[in-house]
Amino acid sequence: DGNAAADGGEPPYDPMKDPTRKPQRSNDPGWNYGYWSEPPNQDLVVCALCGKITSGGIKRHKEHLAGVGGDAIG
Ligand SMILES: [Zn+2]
Repeated sequence: DGNAAADGGEPPYDPMKDPTRKPQRSNDPGWNYGYWSEPPNQDLVVCALCGKITSGGIKRHKEHLAGVGGDAIG
């Protein structure tokens, strides 16, 4: 149907705002642009900018962010 939003019900699901998809305590800026793909698996991080999933935790995700636009890191 696709009219859920118009019904005044729940807002669309936003994984970036889902507390279960990020560490409870982290000031790592990488989390501003990503979230766990399959929590509690902490290795798979989805890029909020392009949707790419990296498999090396937040560290790898940040490497991806740094490589966006260059493709070498992917
Ligand atoms: Zn990305």
